[in-house]
Amino acid sequence: MTPDDCIFCKIVAGELPATIVDEDERTITFMDINPAVRGHVLVIPRAHSRNLFDVLEEDLAACATASQRIARRMREAFGAEGANILSAAESVAWQTVFHFHIHVIPRNHDDPLKLPWIPAAGDMDEIKAAGAELSRG
Ligand code: 5GP
Ligand code: ZN
Repeated sequence: MTPDDCIFCKIVAGELPATIVDEDERTITFMDINPAVRGHVLVIPRAHSRNLFDVLEEDLAACATASQRIARRMREAFGAEGANILSAAESVAWQTVFHFHIHVIPRNHDDPLKLPWIPAAGDMDEIKAAGAELSRG
């Protein structure tokens, strides 16, 4: 299904402009218009899906491979020292465009980005309990 109001489907169809930097049979990669840092891109499957919960396995795999390809290019082209990938699923997790996408963000020691949480040791019983719930089924 291709929702009529999906801006990323419109980019895939060529109905909205985008600075496309990579494409293959299943994916396209283009520059984010609100970059976290210079070089921030979005990797999307050509086929519409809402997010991680429902993206087709083959599209997810293709997007992962495309993310690796563009991250390597960021290192070559910009001398990026590292990279982050991020995919938001649902508003609660910061998703604002409801067509599955992976942010690939080049990283450098002097960039302004910060971790969105403060790492702190967790309670081992709680960690094991959460792990037990996740490994069920
Ligand atoms: P999300 O918030 O869903 O994780 O990420 C959506 C991303 O899409 C945002 O980083 C936003 O800047 C980007 N974005 C929204 N509209 C457009 C657009 O029309 N063109 C491009 N290239 N990026 C967009
Ligand atoms: Zn779409």
